Amino acid sequence: MKSYNSFDVTQQQVREAARLLNLDEATIELLVWPQKEFKFTIPVRMDDGSVKIFHAWRIQHNYARGPAKGGIRFHPDETVDTIRALAGWMTWKTAVVDLPLGGGKGGVKCDPKKMSERELEQLARGYVRAVAEHIGIDRDVPAPDVYTNPQTMAWMMDEYETISHHHQPGVLTDKPLQIGGTEGRRDATARGGVTTVREACNILGVDPTKNFAIQGFGNAGQRAALLHEEILGGGKLVAVSDSRGAIFNADGFNPKELVTYKLTTGSVVGFPGSRAISHEEVLEANVEILYPAALENSIDEKNAPRIKAKIVCELSNGPTTPEADLILYKKNIHVIPDILASAGGVTVSYFEMVQDSYSYFWEESVVHHRLDQKLTKAYHRVQEAIREKKVHPRLAAMVVGVARVAEACKLRGWV
Ligand code: GLU
Repeated sequence: MKSYNSFDVTQQQVREAARLLNLDEATIELLVWPQKEFKFTIPVRMDDGSVKIFHAWRIQHNYARGPAKGGIRFHPDETVDTIRALAGWMTWKTAVVDLPLGGGKGGVKCDPKKMSERELEQLARGYVRAVAEHIGIDRDVPAPDVYTNPQTMAWMMDEYETISHHHQPGVLTDKPLQIGGTEGRRDATARGGVTTVREACNILGVDPTKNFAIQGFGNAGQRAALLHEEILGGGKLVAVSDSRGAIFNADGFNPKELVTYKLTTGSVVGFPGSRAISHEEVLEANVEILYPAALENSIDEKNAPRIKAKIVCELSNGPTTPEADLILYKKNIHVIPDILASAGGVTVSYFEMVQDSYSYFWEESVVHHRLDQKLTKAYHRVQEAIREKKVHPRLAAMVVGVARVAEACKLRGWV
């Protein structure tokens, strides 16, 4: 099986979009590389008394349209190139939904599942001590991502405020509500994705109340399951997977019970009434809608020909390889690409920054309404680009994002 370097993939995507936009070489070179990269080590005294050194990065891909914005991941397979790729995707994501933000990403190579709460807190605080001078509401605004959460953000914000001697909750987003977080942030990624599915179903005439499947049952996957009823009026969740295994039930799972089970046992595996299946079978399940919500490159040229879903809504970053993209396109499967489908999270993060700035907080219904407006508009802008350029949805979304960022770079006189 071919192995992918996500950074190569995203550079390729930018080049393709740039060609369609007739951008000059200097602009392309600027856009395929991060503007700033920080690499550092974080020493943490572990519970057994030993000291462990963790390798970490914060990468600001582009800040022509506003401060860099994007999550921090704690993951054992983290490398500089995964962060570079993800930082770039944040630039295109914020541009596709037309937020006044750039793109960035951070990561620590570690195995959070094997670390205690105290060790994780030390790691989070050490991370902020290393990057404090490079982040801030007007510079670079982190958020949670894979294996980090609002508690991680609370520790990080506290460390930042301790260093800066200022109350500055907007330095990062997706904080707990009690300390400057916003309503509606926890389910925002999934809400944005399911909103785009609603628009797609309307255009394509797909019935959203039939079967759907979710690959990856972390925050985004769980919330998508719960939101189907509210946004789409139903739908039967028949296949689900997480890193430990996959399950199936032709009659559909009760999303609430499944989420509770996952939160108590740590996995969906063994859920009462389910049959164990393989990871591949989730992707290939007989469903109308498939949500990839795990890590990068899960849909590849091997499984793509067997995907039966009519709509693939990418809640995770980079789930589909370039070869798989073309296969899905030829099969007439409607892909809602990651930089659009998963943009709800950063959209509500932006709302959080706005609310933190004037210290006045919106009702949940206001957040939901504004999120819906942003995502619906972005979805239809990408549809327009698909028609204009006659290309697959990912490339069309990239064209929309790259055009906006290139324009900002030009206006600033950078290229
Ligand atoms: N980690 C999320 C993403 O990849 C959210 C980033 C943010 O809110 O800044 O889109």
